[in-house]
Amino acid sequence: MQRVLTTQTKEKIGEKVRLCGWVNNLRDHGKIIFIDLRDKEGIIQLVGDEKLKNLRISDVLEIEGVVKKRPKNLINPKILTGEIEVEVKNFKILAKSKDLPFDIQGSGREINEELRLRYRYLDLRRPRIFRNLEIRHKTIKFIRDWLDAHGFIEIETPILTKATPEGARDFLVPSRLQPGKFYALPQSPQQYKQLLMVAGFERYYQIARCFRDEDPRADRAYGEFTQLDLEMSFTTQEEILSLIEELYKSLIKKIFPQKKLTFSHFPRLEYDEVIKKYKTDKPDLRKNKNDADELAFCFIVNFPLFEWKEKENRWDSMHHPFTAPKEEFVQDLLNERNIGGIKSYQHDFVLNGFEIGGGSIRISDPEIQEKVFKILGHKSSEIKKKFGHLLEAFSYGVPPHGGIAPGIDRFLMIVLNEPNLREVIAFPMTASGQTAVMDAPSEVDSSQLKELGIEIVFNKDK
Ligand code: ASP
Repeated sequence: MQRVLTTQTKEKIGEKVRLCGWVNNLRDHGKIIFIDLRDKEGIIQLVGDEKLKNLRISDVLEIEGVVKKRPKNLINPKILTGEIEVEVKNFKILAKSKDLPFDIQGSGREINEELRLRYRYLDLRRPRIFRNLEIRHKTIKFIRDWLDAHGFIEIETPILTKATPEGARDFLVPSRLQPGKFYALPQSPQQYKQLLMVAGFERYYQIARCFRDEDPRADRAYGEFTQLDLEMSFTTQEEILSLIEELYKSLIKKIFPQKKLTFSHFPRLEYDEVIKKYKTDKPDLRKNKNDADELAFCFIVNFPLFEWKEKENRWDSMHHPFTAPKEEFVQDLLNERNIGGIKSYQHDFVLNGFEIGGGSIRISDPEIQEKVFKILGHKSSEIKKKFGHLLEAFSYGVPPHGGIAPGIDRFLMIVLNEPNLREVIAFPMTASGQTAVMDAPSEVDSSQLKELGIEIVFNKDK
């Protein structure tokens, strides 16, 4: 007999069905036993005799039984299959389960994080997290379909690559074939997407994994995160912002219809004015901050190109070094004057007080690009070594281009009203950088180190 899912039983009243799933709950009334059976769709009530007695929560079960309508007074409106139950005729235990290390019915927020993540595959059984991941899938699928319909193609870029500056530390991977040399995991696909514009793709996107070794916060995962990386040629800042506005409005309408937008047109706000008025460049513009379903999207534009790093006594990019200055400041830049006053084509995407994305129109003139690197303190030889490939590519016909990269995790955290990014990621790391379930980082065999030509020297002071 073909297996049916819990939700499909509703159409099979009076019929014999085969169901598989986990024992979610068990109520022993002596001669009669009730079991809530759970599968990926939901829960259904099974009714059987004492033979079901020895079952335990989380055992994996296969049953055959007859679907019956429940008496009116026993209907459970809280579950999709609340009007029916299945009378078990025979059953088979497919796997036994030990007692779970924690309860999976509640929010889970009270449970120690290390424990939750060590048993993440059990924590994922929690209906809320399970649903979060389904919505994550639907969100990403919507984005892919929408961009496909708007002429974008998704292109994967390398994970083992060269450092690309986004302001964080790199994760390094030693090379076996070239001992003593290292790959860096990408902080973003920034340079690759620009090279794809030189190649002529014109409209690129990628649901991209980015790796940054920076300290975690509730809204910043340690190690890796996912962003919608996007780049366009022959574009303007306004075209990029309008496209993103359209995409997010359609997404909210389809996947999060209960949400209300504060602004039917996302405002474009000037950096200087926002800082003056709100003392932050990510203002929370909701009308009613107690309303869990209000979304206030806005864009911030007209950022300075550089910011002064007092401690390090040097200029740094406000965004990253590929961001273009506004035309009226190009002469200042080339002559290295008024550096702090140069305005750029950076744009930030802000939602409810969180930065959910950033991007810019890019520099496509090698002379301007070299000057930016120079102001950032790179020596000519270093510029060649680190970024020579990009400057060379720009000498073969580079179209004007620009893009943006909204984060997927942070956006979902906000729209799902979750307090932490870990609630929307399947296998997140702990705050101390330990992977969920699998014990990484961990030591490796000395033979592996030997092959890589690496010797570990422990610093006694640490
Ligand atoms: N690469 C940038 C980032 O990851 C986004 C962009 O400029 O498109 O923040």
